[in-house]
Amino acid sequence: MPEETIFTKIINGDIPSKKVFEDDQCICIHDVSPQAPVHLLMIPRKPIPRLVDASPEDKALLGHLMIKIGEVARDLGIGDAFRVIMNNGANAGQTVFHLHFHIVAGANFDEHKMV
Ligand code: 5GP
Repeated sequence: MPEETIFTKIINGDIPSKKVFEDDQCICIHDVSPQAPVHLLMIPRKPIPRLVDASPEDKALLGHLMIKIGEVARDLGIGDAFRVIMNNGANAGQTVFHLHFHIVAGANFDEHKMV
């Protein structure tokens, strides 16, 4: 079994977090070290380490996360301007090996730059 990540500890309630949404498949929390005025993390309960480790059986789950990201963004009033980012692998900046999407908003986005 891979070691429990900090996100599994948060999901299990062993570490506190500021939750904005949760259901039977995912939780959405505020990032502890925000990089923008709004910085959320959408995390599946299932501990898939990286996107490349996802399999076809995760198709519905990944779709669910996307739909919930849209709903959460709409509910928080950032539906017109937010970015969704996923870091896959240490060399791309991933530090927690439990797949998650960053949702960032409120920053002065450069329209044409991804990073
Ligand atoms: P990654 O670098 O893996 O793409 O993103 C991991 C994110 O998790 C980082 O933005 C980091 O600030 C956040 N993070 C790490 N530990 C905690 C924690 O204990 N609580 C919360 N809410 N966020 C965390």
